[in-house]
Amino acid sequence: ELTISFPVGGVSLLPRRRRVIQAVQDVSFDIAPGETLALVGESGCGKTTAGRATAGLYKAPKGTVSFRGQDIFNLPRASRKPVRRAIQMVFQDPFSSLDPRMTVFEILSEPLKINRMGSAREIRERVQDLIGQVGLPADSLNRYPHEFSGGQRQRIAIARALAPEPELIVADEPLSALDVSVQSQVLNLLGALKRERGLSYLFISHDLAAVHHIADRVAVMYLGRLVEIAGRDALFANPRHPYTQGLLAAVPRIGQGRRKRTLIAGDLPSPLAVPSGCAFHPRCPLAQEICRRERPELKTHSDVAHLTACHFAERKEAA
Ligand code: SF4
Repeated sequence: ELTISFPVGGVSLLPRRRRVIQAVQDVSFDIAPGETLALVGESGCGKTTAGRATAGLYKAPKGTVSFRGQDIFNLPRASRKPVRRAIQMVFQDPFSSLDPRMTVFEILSEPLKINRMGSAREIRERVQDLIGQVGLPADSLNRYPHEFSGGQRQRIAIARALAPEPELIVADEPLSALDVSVQSQVLNLLGALKRERGLSYLFISHDLAAVHHIADRVAVMYLGRLVEIAGRDALFANPRHPYTQGLLAAVPRIGQGRRKRTLIAGDLPSPLAVPSGCAFHPRCPLAQEICRRERPELKTHSDVAHLTACHFAERKEAA
């Protein structure tokens, strides 16, 4: 099981002019073996930062990322390689995430060699198996990334992530650089690999149709904080946070039923000027005076698996 927890002062970024942005704060979630947790929200909400911290690419100064009970940033030397190997990442853009000077064989065999996963012959066989599993042509091994389409390149990136036999894959917007016509193929591939291998995913996306297709649970982020987390069906059928309601209203076919559609007004504020109290209050149609003063805690109401950070979540539930 993986747990990520960034208390106040969590993951910070130093932008130009060296002002500190708290990109992710008070974000805490766990992912069970075989589970897909989707992390959703507008660009700039901190979901990519949270995902990269989960994969060990950013160190959270005050937070922790625990994998099987071990903090991945404070591992004893002997555990570093196995834990790093168990968490892999698939990036958004397969055009820049693959080294153009390496053949597919070199790209896929590199993690196997680094992790000493077999003899030269066994590595060749494993690489050949991998390209079959991700649906690449059998003659792909001696070709270079530029010889493939965007969808095929993302399949190469997925095969590279699978090579060291991970338990968790952090997939950061893995569909958004692809043509719409191949997005569903890559999504189906991720779903099939999860079922066959019992993989867990942290699936970072702003595409709620894809999230509805693949996620078991969904966590919604706004300006660096989680505002709602629930099982997929509960969240799509009964979103409690006005921000989640607004996001879902933009995709009317999913879980909208006959509910009134309310779109989100205004733009996402700068992370350098996060509004007081509930950070969503300038855009929230239900905001009251308390919302400007007090930040609502992320907490459960009647359903223990459904957490919402809104002063009026209970009232909306009763309505
Ligand atoms: Fe809207 Fe207030 Fe709830 Fe924030 S706490 S989402 S401003 S009603």
